[in-house]
Amino acid sequence: MKSFAYVNPTSEKDAVAALGTERGKVLPLAGGQDLLARMKDYIDQPDRVVNVKNALDTTIAATPEGGLKIGAAVKIADLAEHAQVIRLYPSLVKAAGEVGTPQIRNQGTIGGNINQRPRCWYFRNEEFICFKKGGNRCFAPQGENQFHAIFGNGPTHIVHPSSLAVPALAYGAKFRLVSPRGERIVDASEYFTMPTTQNVMYENVLAADELLTHVILPPPGNVKHGHYEVRYKASHDWPIAFATVVLAMNGPRVGSARVVMGAVAPVPWRAQAAEQALAGKAIDENTAGAAAEAALRGARPMSQNGYKVQVAKTAVKRAILTAAGIKTV
Ligand SMILES: Cc1cc2nc3c(=O)[nH]c(=O)nc-3n(C[C@H](O)[C@H](O)[C@H](O)COP(=O)(O)OP(=O)(O)OC[C@H]3O[C@@H](n4cnc5c(N)ncnc54)[C@H](O)[C@@H]3O)c2cc1C
Repeated sequence: MKSFAYVNPTSEKDAVAALGTERGKVLPLAGGQDLLARMKDYIDQPDRVVNVKNALDTTIAATPEGGLKIGAAVKIADLAEHAQVIRLYPSLVKAAGEVGTPQIRNQGTIGGNINQRPRCWYFRNEEFICFKKGGNRCFAPQGENQFHAIFGNGPTHIVHPSSLAVPALAYGAKFRLVSPRGERIVDASEYFTMPTTQNVMYENVLAADELLTHVILPPPGNVKHGHYEVRYKASHDWPIAFATVVLAMNGPRVGSARVVMGAVAPVPWRAQAAEQALAGKAIDENTAGAAAEAALRGARPMSQNGYKVQVAKTAVKRAILTAAGIKTV
């Protein structure tokens, strides 16, 4: 690993002051599980890392509106066990409780989870100079693409790795960002960016000298929640596909729905066709199945990941049924 300087600020202000404007030269360090692995693998070689664990908020507090404000330095394990989070945002709790292993959840932070870089094996291998590392191609379409995106159509075909980003979007979260220019609040739905030829290297709108400091969740209201993940193994891995569903009910029928899928696209993928398919319906096997079909209608799998279409459909259907309190296998 290349040697680097280490800074240990104790306030938000000092932390952002220690960052720089040049991408990759100075990087924030939270739990370090993603960043240190990238440094050991020569994917990132910063001159300086800024420990943000003593600088950013480690608390979860109620907002005046009745939602919650979650500090970026809160551990994933603490989020999963927080009584108010359990009461108000059970799908976020479910997602947090399924991240990696107990050790990973005890070390990983909310800010680190949301900002972790893609798990694509071409990105993670220093030999492959792909779009994300300043190269001129994505190796997935002609390569080993069984875990890559089925939506988005490039130019890179990564899937977003954060399990927490998906329920955050489904619950309508906002992110507070701080830089030397001050603070800004960005909708979770506008934080994550699709790859374009102009912006292919990064997955979100965060500037090099900016930190994510809080996730702000609005009061959920009278909704039903479902979250379903499909994995190869029960733990120690990322899901193959998953979905969070939030249903605002109008008596026995769905008034409005939020359906967001994970591990299918370069960003948490909102399925508006599924949301429309659910509106006005009572939930049963048929309506859940029809909404899941609608969610996957535009999927464009590559040579080895066609199976993910059915996996994602199952995740959406079971998340909807879970939300409705209908038992799934
Ligand atoms: C075996 C294994 C299985 C895993 N399974 C899952 C899974 O199922 N689901 C899932 O979501 N994750 C999974 N993870 C990933 C794990 O949850 C993340 O690596 C972890 O959440 C990152 O948190 P961290 O605090 O360690 O981040 P770090 O490694 O410290 O940081 C991650 C990235 O975010 C940046 N960063 C950190 N904090 C901030 C901030 N406040 N503002 C801006 N940028 C910031 C860092 O510079 C770095 O680039 C798994 C990891 C392993 C090793």
